[in-house]
Amino acid sequence: MFNKRVKVKDLLATEPANQEVIVMGWVRTFRNNQFIALNDGSTNNNIQVLAELGTFEDALLKRITTGASLKVTGELIASLGKGQKVEVKAKTIEILGDSDAEKFPLQPKKHSLEFLREKAHLRFRTYTFSAVFRVRNTLSFAIHKFFYEKGFVYLHTPIITASDAEGAGEMFRVSTLPFDNPPRNEDGSINFKEDFFGKATNLTVSGQLEGELAATALGEIYTFGPTFRAENSNTTRHLAEFWMIEPEMAFCDIEDNMNLAEEFIRYLIKYAMDNNREDLEFLATRLAEEEKQLPQDKRSELGLIEKLDFVLNNAFERITYTDAINILLESNHYKKKKFQYDISWGIDLQSEHERYLVEKHFKKPVIVTGYPAAIKAFYMRMNDDGKTVAAMDILAPGIGEIVGGSQREERLEKLESRMKEMHIPLAEMDWYLDTRRFGSVPHAGFGLGFERMVQFVTGMTNIRDVIPFPRTPKNAEF
Ligand code: ATP
Ligand code: MN
Repeated sequence: MFNKRVKVKDLLATEPANQEVIVMGWVRTFRNNQFIALNDGSTNNNIQVLAELGTFEDALLKRITTGASLKVTGELIASLGKGQKVEVKAKTIEILGDSDAEKFPLQPKKHSLEFLREKAHLRFRTYTFSAVFRVRNTLSFAIHKFFYEKGFVYLHTPIITASDAEGAGEMFRVSTLPFDNPPRNEDGSINFKEDFFGKATNLTVSGQLEGELAATALGEIYTFGPTFRAENSNTTRHLAEFWMIEPEMAFCDIEDNMNLAEEFIRYLIKYAMDNNREDLEFLATRLAEEEKQLPQDKRSELGLIEKLDFVLNNAFERITYTDAINILLESNHYKKKKFQYDISWGIDLQSEHERYLVEKHFKKPVIVTGYPAAIKAFYMRMNDDGKTVAAMDILAPGIGEIVGGSQREERLEKLESRMKEMHIPLAEMDWYLDTRRFGSVPHAGFGLGFERMVQFVTGMTNIRDVIPFPRTPKNAEF
């Protein structure tokens, strides 16, 4: 029975010829006891179902309420109403699931995003969220398509790892030891030898190190999976559980790496523009409405679609960390002491600095390279100056850091000495160092935060609104 239904998206694109169709969906509105706006999630556009006066019993009509689910059989006819080409003239209407109008939490009015976050099981039914999650879906597909067509191997890196050397962020521990009375060593520390894996384990903060092992054999790989960081930062761009895409390429330097990242971001934007145009237009209007609430100087200069077009058509700015520091030091913003954090060569750029560079100075995405070694991870390749590394961060307007990557240190001695300096236990990382012992090659890679990319494309300001079930400090609902 169910496989005969036609999706609303397809119906809306069908020529009407009084043919019989079956459509199913949820009632968005019911007007004049006659016109049902039905939505099935395939598109933000509803199909109008005409329940001609006198055709259906009152008892049935009463049950056609916002949120109720229906099965409608009828004829696809040309619509006389404005705004739609076709409608379904109902012959039979079956209520699949009632929805008590008094109790249904979503009313046909605007709800705040915060309110909807608490109704996570229903927020998919709203125009905004269904659009966001369709775009998210398209972007996921585009990621695989992009890499598949380039001959990259999709690699599943482990979710439970024992390597705590990466230092990308605070980790969630994975253990089956009893919390109240764990086995202890003589010095009182917890004895992880008795734990499930015989050692301390945690949820992955990045698949990069494992990715490097595969890239130095398969050539080019990418991961796309969940990533966990127990960072206690309650911001609009951090989640405790997020998805990351991490390509890793053998025979690749920092230049190739930047080129690939830029091409990749543009490809994703273009793919969404080509395949989710209506959703993006809806989201653009939503964003423009939201920004009306902001003071003039806080509003974006470009609308969502214009911003995406702009990124498609303009090369990213490429500067060194040293340039970035100089630009910041020479800015009026700095001279007027408007930055909260001080600036000097060697600091880790704060998000206010990144946003100034991207939103005020360059007004486009910026790739910053050549960061001080001291503020970056051990595996990044040392530049000839002996103090900066071949790192690259891509900063995007409205988001800040969207990509972090580097050329990796392929020279065994240099890598070992950096690891010693940073107190990383070499013995535990032997498996990793082996890639530098046997046929080491120049290689590079980066990590793109998927949700930050979805934010960029959909214009959603809070990262909690682009993942179906956000996990953040003190929140793991649903
Ligand atoms: P940030 O400084 O913004 O916390 P990071 O330097 O910790 O980022 P990386 O370790 O380089 O980030 O991770 C690669 C990418 O993963 C980042 O560029 C970002 O897009 C994304 N990312 C990092 N942490 C988070 C998080 N907590 N939630 C969502 N995305 C994240
Ligand atoms: Mn971080």
